[in-house]
Amino acid sequence: MLDAACAALIPAFYQTQMVTPQTTLWDDVIGQVRLTHPSLSRGWFAELEASDLQHGVLEIMAKNSAQARYLDQHCRVAFQEAAQAATGRLVTVRFRAEVLPDQEGALQTPLNPDEELCLSPDYTFEHFVTGPCNRLAHAAAVAVSEDPGRAYNPYFIHGPVGLGKTHLLQAICHVIRKRDPHARYLYISSETFINHFIEAIEHGAMHQFRYRYRHVDGLVIDDVQFLAERERSQEAFFHTFNALYQSHRQIILSADCPPNEIPSLEERLVSRFNSGLVALLERPCLETRMAIVRKKAKLRCIEVPEDVVRLVATKIDTNIRDLEGALIKLDALSQGYDGRIRLDWARKEFGAPPGRPVPIPTILEAVAAHFHVKIAEIQGKKRSKVITHPRHVSMYLARKLTAQSLEEIGGYFGGRDHTTVLHASRVIAAQLETDKELQALMNDIAAQVKNAHP
Ligand code: ADP
Ligand code: MG
Repeated sequence: MLDAACAALIPAFYQTQMVTPQTTLWDDVIGQVRLTHPSLSRGWFAELEASDLQHGVLEIMAKNSAQARYLDQHCRVAFQEAAQAATGRLVTVRFRAEVLPDQEGALQTPLNPDEELCLSPDYTFEHFVTGPCNRLAHAAAVAVSEDPGRAYNPYFIHGPVGLGKTHLLQAICHVIRKRDPHARYLYISSETFINHFIEAIEHGAMHQFRYRYRHVDGLVIDDVQFLAERERSQEAFFHTFNALYQSHRQIILSADCPPNEIPSLEERLVSRFNSGLVALLERPCLETRMAIVRKKAKLRCIEVPEDVVRLVATKIDTNIRDLEGALIKLDALSQGYDGRIRLDWARKEFGAPPGRPVPIPTILEAVAAHFHVKIAEIQGKKRSKVITHPRHVSMYLARKLTAQSLEEIGGYFGGRDHTTVLHASRVIAAQLETDKELQALMNDIAAQVKNAHP
């Protein structure tokens, strides 16, 4: 039965208000959620509708089941609090997906009744910004999504946290699911795989476990580094992997380091992982970071002037998650500054932009002078220690002091590829942990280089 007092609220949600005639009660709910939970908010919240209110349960209609699932998993409390604040009543919320007539069949027979893919609607290729840091990983992901099981199998993406591994994995799943809603793809974290395996052992249900993992069209496992030191789970994974691989089913994996650097990963798994394509995601350069800030701002309907985009992208070069965090912070802070984001106050919050980035030739000059070698030798092919050490030092400093990608840095060193630059930086970083003399030397050269380019 319709709760009369509450039912009256549904039309009321859409009536303009006396206090602020431009907005409705429903706008208030959405506005409140955006304000109090900016990190949860998504651009598509604008398309949500309040569809029913009975017995104190407010039904919110999303455009599709992925949106409804996201809301249900992450936003229940946020919407509940906002609805209560807006209506002054004790209201709970329920999320539903709009069912279009031609989708009805598809929704009633999900691709895999037990384990429907649980994907973030924002993690698509359209929302992924490419640059020199991720071009290969992105292009390969697109190829895999277009020709699963054939283009690159297995496909292994690695890189530090917050650089888009999960985003790319899910983007592939979105494309495959859109093209073939009945494809049985399993997208899980390696922790879930391990938990399923342990449960199967505990309940004597290995048969079901094998069936579950081997009767899929594709297996996507995020963060496989957690398999490290899990000997029995690795064994189970190895057999799953072989079964799928031999029948040309697509396997997609991600980790925070390349296969051979995952501690205690069995050699046979390392070589299996390496047998397909291994792609690296590296830290984005300034231009890519700026493009990402613009894209994320647009998605969240936040207006950010170009000078603030540059400020944020210059200040935050760690990873993209931090970049998003900064954008959310700006949005929240703007409430204290007439709702608009401007450079004058953003500068106070984030500090002035740093000086000009240091050019790599300046680094080369300083290092060559210090070690009494020629710049051409650092850039050349000689492998004697007198040359390789200054070369490694230069590459390390180029990574530290410039916004260039590994690929671009490699270009300054006789066209070496990104793995060489990465290796050199890691060698020096490891030495720096214990070598006080090298630490002092690095500080000296860095100061000298910065002075040359204040
Ligand atoms: P990882 O799995 O590598 O830790 P995620 O895929 O979770 O990182 O990415 C962290 C956040 O950064 C996500 O919100 C994601 O959408 C965003 N992100 C990462 N790379 C990009 C990119 N190239 N373009 C747009 N957003 C990105
Ligand atoms: Mg991830």
